[in-house]
Amino acid sequence: MDNCIFCNIVRGLAPAKILHQDDEVTAFYDSHPITPVHVLIVPNRHIVSVNQLEAKDENMLGHMVMVARALAITLNLKESGYRLVFNTGPDAGQSVNHLHLHLIGGRRMPFRFEE
Ligand code: AMP
Ligand code: ZN
Repeated sequence: MDNCIFCNIVRGLAPAKILHQDDEVTAFYDSHPITPVHVLIVPNRHIVSVNQLEAKDENMLGHMVMVARALAITLNLKESGYRLVFNTGPDAGQSVNHLHLHLIGGRRMPFRFEE
């Protein structure tokens, strides 16, 4: 996907502050953080959203969560807590059509919506 920003970050063709990269996933800081710590974990392969996941993606998906967990420890969020979020589709406000797991933390986060 030549015009996908996250594919380009994975390939090193677009700038990002990368925290972790392996054969399956890449993790980098969100460019517009909503919390003091805001990291995105993405599959290296282009998958649009949770809706497009297939059975064969199960291991990769588990790996995304384990990478998020490891980064939460590295970034000192283990005790204070954190949230892992997959925005999926319009009502969730998904704005980049390449699957990504948000790791957010570093402050208290409300759960209920104000609007
Ligand atoms: P979502 O709204 O769930 O689709 O989240 C997309 C996230 O990607 C937003 O939090 C954006 O700030 C972030 N984002 C968009 N472009 C970039 C980029 N080039 N580098 C880092 N994060 C980005
Ligand atoms: Zn992509």
